[in-house]
Amino acid sequence: AAKRSAADHPIRFDHTMRERVRERARVEQDLRTALDNDELIVHYQPIVAAADGTLRSMEALVRWEHPTRGLVSPGVFVPVAEDCGLILEIGRHVLDTACRQLAAWRAAGQVADHVGVTVNVSARQLEQPGLVDEVAAALAASGLDRTPSRLGLELTESMLMHSPEAALDRLCELRALGVRLLLDDFGTGASSLARLRRLPVDTLKIDRAFITGLGGEDRDDDAFVAAITSLAGALGLDTVAEGVETEIQLARLQQLGATRIQGFLFSRPVPANEFVRDWGLAAP
Ligand code: C2E
Ligand code: MG
Ligand code: MG
Ligand code: MG
Repeated sequence: AAKRSAADHPIRFDHTMRERVRERARVEQDLRTALDNDELIVHYQPIVAAADGTLRSMEALVRWEHPTRGLVSPGVFVPVAEDCGLILEIGRHVLDTACRQLAAWRAAGQVADHVGVTVNVSARQLEQPGLVDEVAAALAASGLDRTPSRLGLELTESMLMHSPEAALDRLCELRALGVRLLLDDFGTGASSLARLRRLPVDTLKIDRAFITGLGGEDRDDDAFVAAITSLAGALGLDTVAEGVETEIQLARLQQLGATRIQGFLFSRPVPANEFVRDWGLAAP
């Protein structure tokens, strides 16, 4: 089809733009209220050992319990929160909640001591020099500072490939606190191997896009995942396969040497009470 300029449809274009701007403003206003009213809650999704399916950690994922719209997914409001800066407050809230939750489960004997929790960190948060102090404060307030390696921070590949040196220094400070660093959505950004080698990360999270076709007719995904797991092995990193939904994918990932599995095959992200019911240790 011939490419048309926006000027071919000036009225429709204007209308759509205005609608979009208005919708964003509304979401932003609602988000501020949501923070004040504790409508932002955290769900947890298990991450298990590829070898035996035992619980290793869980990813904390934010949700918005909207009074009229129901459960809103982060795909909708996190980009808005990033634009308007509210992600800093939201990020702090998720970090604190996840640390306290893990500490509470451990104290109650509901999860084993080796189990960790990971939290997503946005580019805006990494830009802030105060991030290191916030992480230290969250560890101290929850008591996780005695075992800081149980906290993992998920950063995306694209964010790190374009971040200035100051942000990379911040990663080293975070590592010095003892927390783990994971590279999220790995494979989707244009990582330079030279840079990857210099990043103080522990784990590569292989993006769901490369997991979907595993074990299928097209062998490209198998080859891609094999390359990532062997790279990770050479660099001494763990790998988490994201978005695993089928037994076929799981079997293939075990053959290819992925160390951890996350996906609907084991569980969707669920509220804290459901998580501990399904994955917690029996009360003594
Ligand atoms: P992500 O960090 O890559 O999180 C994994 C996403 O994949 C989650 O979506 C999870 O529900 C979904 N997922 C897991 N297993 C499967 C599967 O087997 N099949 C399918 N189809 N999907 C699966 P969710 O919770 O909607 O989060 C989307 C994104 O929003 C996250 O991607 C992350 O980038 C962002 N996000 C979520 N919570 C936070 C947060 O607290 N802070 C920040 N900055 N971003 C967050
Ligand atoms: Mg993540
Ligand atoms: Mg991911
Ligand atoms: Mg993803």
